[in-house]
Amino acid sequence: MNQYWSPLVHNITPYTPGEQPKLDNLIKLNTNENPYPPSPKVLEALRGEIADSLRLYPDPNADRVKAVLAAMHALTPQHIFAGNGSDEVLAFIFQALLKHDRPVLFPDVTYSFYPVYCRLYEIKYQAVPVTAGLDINIDGYQCQNGGIIFPNPNAPTGLPVSRADIERLLARNTESVVVLDEAYVDFGAESSVPLVQKYPNLVVVQTLSKAYSLAGLRVGFAIGHPELMEALERVKNSFNSYPLSRFAITGATAALEDRDYFEKTRQQVIRTRDTLGLRLAEMGFSVLPSKANFIFARHPYHNARDLAERLRKRSVIVRHFSLPKIEQYLRITVGTDRQCAALLSALTEILAPPSLS
Ligand SMILES: *Cc1c(COP(=O)(O)O)cnc(C)c1O
Repeated sequence: MNQYWSPLVHNITPYTPGEQPKLDNLIKLNTNENPYPPSPKVLEALRGEIADSLRLYPDPNADRVKAVLAAMHALTPQHIFAGNGSDEVLAFIFQALLKHDRPVLFPDVTYSFYPVYCRLYEIKYQAVPVTAGLDINIDGYQCQNGGIIFPNPNAPTGLPVSRADIERLLARNTESVVVLDEAYVDFGAESSVPLVQKYPNLVVVQTLSKAYSLAGLRVGFAIGHPELMEALERVKNSFNSYPLSRFAITGATAALEDRDYFEKTRQQVIRTRDTLGLRLAEMGFSVLPSKANFIFARHPYHNARDLAERLRKRSVIVRHFSLPKIEQYLRITVGTDRQCAALLSALTEILAPPSLS
């Protein structure tokens, strides 16, 4: 509490990101970063940006990034908006497209940043219960609303919504914007980008932080009807003309262009995820069928917070959320095969019955 703070600052509860430990040698499976390095072509391109040109501002419109994305999806650059990480893109979306008289709808189990944006921007919201199996219940979004947003696949469950269900939702919900946060879509869910031409109220948000191994570069984007993108540009240009640095623009362009590397690393993460899921199930965990680069699992006899603490003592960090419906789950990022083996051996020790010796 401080007398100089605005009432708004008194009243908000910021999002808590997963820990970025200062210690080396920890097996970091807590923030869904990619365990593989960025494409060598990205690193090479970034080295080229270390130059005198850094004295100049970057392109305020990040046209190179928009051009690559537009070509990838057979859309125009006007269908693309780029920001400093998809969290920033989401913040602009809440202000530009989701702030209306009626409440925004999102699942009660979802990315915990959404209610934080709502409180920051004073947007009303209503949480729609997930099913008993923690799936997003598409039929729960039929009431009048100021917009709908959820991740696909959902976070932190990893459970996807099919394109058919997305279309069912879009066909019914034409009066407000539907935002699909596809941060994890490249790990096996169906992207809704192909629906953008058909539904003028659809916005798809993607990021280079997960599947492209570039969480440190901070690049995210939105894809949707040019008029929706214009709303985002208006907010962005009322806030910061240059959200993408020269490094971000160059690195993002190189990453998006290196399709082979992207394909190779994403397939490796998918393979490791599926094996890790099987191994955890063999140890007695209930494992949700994830289409993301993390696994959401609970053990029937072991308290999740306890397990997370005991893993940490063995230098493995995973994410635990003290939130209704999911407090008995652990969210485990898919690491390399070696990191996952280390996780499994730590869990084997923890779950082993006390020895008699
Ligand atoms: C990781 C994540 C983001 C944020 O990604 P950045 O582009 O790094 O800001 C957005 N939405 C969800 C659901 C995420 O898990």
